[in-house]
Amino acid sequence: MLISRLGSDDAAARAREDRLVALSAGAARVLVVPHLYHLPETSSIWARLAALDGPVLAATWLHPRPAEWLLRRHGVGASGLTVLSLLADDCFAALRALLGEAGGAGTVEELSEAATPRWYPVVDRDRCRECGHCRQFCLFGVYAAGPDGQLVVANPDRCKPGCPACSRVCPEGAILFPLYTQDDAIAGAPGRLMTPDPAARRMLARHCGIPCPACRQAGPAATPAPGSDAPICPECGRALASAPEPEPAAGEVFDEIDALIDDLDALTERRS
Ligand code: SF4
Ligand code: SF4
Repeated sequence: MLISRLGSDDAAARAREDRLVALSAGAARVLVVPHLYHLPETSSIWARLAALDGPVLAATWLHPRPAEWLLRRHGVGASGLTVLSLLADDCFAALRALLGEAGGAGTVEELSEAATPRWYPVVDRDRCRECGHCRQFCLFGVYAAGPDGQLVVANPDRCKPGCPACSRVCPEGAILFPLYTQDDAIAGAPGRLMTPDPAARRMLARHCGIPCPACRQAGPAATPAPGSDAPICPECGRALASAPEPEPAAGEVFDEIDALIDDLDALTERRS
């Protein structure tokens, strides 16, 4: 049993964690750890958790879907992983039901490590279709292609704090920002799935010239003239059944990228 603390001075949260520890202690081997999302990539705690043998039951302050994919990314629970969310009202009842099956040695160990707040995407690998759009869209090199071509979050700490932009581009709702508070779908709440944002998809099409999955056109996206009622593809914003628009001048592209960076910076300032 793994219990991840919130790590704040919130007395109610601490009481909830301690109740969970007390419920688990008699029936399972319990490891209490700092907030998993904020642990550095190279933390010795990740190595310790990845080395656990047998099925892992993890309780965190994240929704279950991002918690599962965060743990899996670090190799935790390869022999079986069940996640509980301390955000859920029924987490104590769920724990009682699960511990009835788990059994265990009945010990509690607390691991501590200083961690500063972090912000980065967690990818739901069950949903990711390896289209690479997030990698093409991100200006900061957070994503890369692995040796087998699979998407990897290679440089998570390059992500702009507070920015969830690529979750709006992903066509599969696979990109989660577990601490995002303004949209449950981006945070990965149960029953909520992020749908792509047309404006973000149009920006992706314009910068990257990717083939559109809806209208199949490739190349730079046209910006419709103000007041134009010409049909446009709702997915990529390209004009439908019309001649390809000329490539935007390099200066226009950089202006748009600068505007995106300004938007990201504004988000960062609002969070700090
Ligand atoms: S955009 Fe979404 S589906 Fe495409 S590679 Fe990125 S995470 Fe996977
Ligand atoms: S949120 Fe922004 S900075 Fe972070 S990975 Fe996505 S596009 Fe890159």
